[in-house]
Amino acid sequence: MEDFEKLQFEKDKKYFLEMIRASKKIVFFGGAGISTESGIPDFRSSSGIYSKDFGSQISPEEMLSRSYFDSHTRDFYRFYRKVMLYPDAEPNRVHKKLAELEAAGKDITVVTQNIDGLHQKAGSKNVLELHGTVLKNHCTNCGHAYDLNFVSNPNNPIPHCSLCDGIVKPDVVLYEEPLDSDVVSAAVEAISTCDMLIIAGTSLVVYPAASYVRYFRGKCSAVINLTSTPNESRCDLVFHQKAGDVFDWIDVESSV
Ligand code: NAD
Repeated sequence: MEDFEKLQFEKDKKYFLEMIRASKKIVFFGGAGISTESGIPDFRSSSGIYSKDFGSQISPEEMLSRSYFDSHTRDFYRFYRKVMLYPDAEPNRVHKKLAELEAAGKDITVVTQNIDGLHQKAGSKNVLELHGTVLKNHCTNCGHAYDLNFVSNPNNPIPHCSLCDGIVKPDVVLYEEPLDSDVVSAAVEAISTCDMLIIAGTSLVVYPAASYVRYFRGKCSAVINLTSTPNESRCDLVFHQKAGDVFDWIDVESSV
């Protein structure tokens, strides 16, 4: 790093920490990059799911679509179990720091595109899951609820409801499906009324989720992402590094 870059970096870091301390309401808007340190691959990094060869001509987007679920349920589940389920994953330093800040009294809303449930596992209570969760599943016929163990069993290629024999579907928003309108409203409300918005670990290309950050009207927006993302030039602070490294800077006690 050149000297002037070092100076700018130190200035940005100081401002980031000052804004975390001074902000009454913070929204953390995260994506798959937040869980890579927990061993869950993201989609678009060089080691992400989209760069892997699954020996199929069908794209991951198509395999994770509602029409594929309906027409090729067995293949959907084979792919889904292989690439989307990480039951042993544990929260990492970002999940934990966010939960610690909330527990210490900071008003933080986590708006996540992730479906892995790791924010709640770390202890965060105020979490809005735009794309649902792998932890919950429902019968498409009678609505009966099932847990992750029920759908993750590979000996049961297509999970059927034990009450009515309907097909059980994960509570994950598949491509072609709309987002839950209550969750969207709550996310837009949180983003449009917060003082600070932290966008982290997301390529910000999955719509409509990515569009919600445009509702921000507060004082400071920060992007933390390993690689460049669209619209980051509109943000006040940009850190191209691991979200965990940036969150290590935050001292919980002096931030509330
Ligand atoms: P994405 O894969 O498109 O982008 C992830 C971004 O995070 C990349 O730009 C990458 O450079 C960055 N990144 C990776 N590791 C990082 C780290 N340690 N610190 C900072 N940045 C890091 O993911 P997306 O934008 O969230 O969109 C993909 C969609 O797929 C979303 O809907 C997401 O929920 C879903 N998905 C979820 C999970 C999960 O629940 N853990 C995993 C894969 C995909």
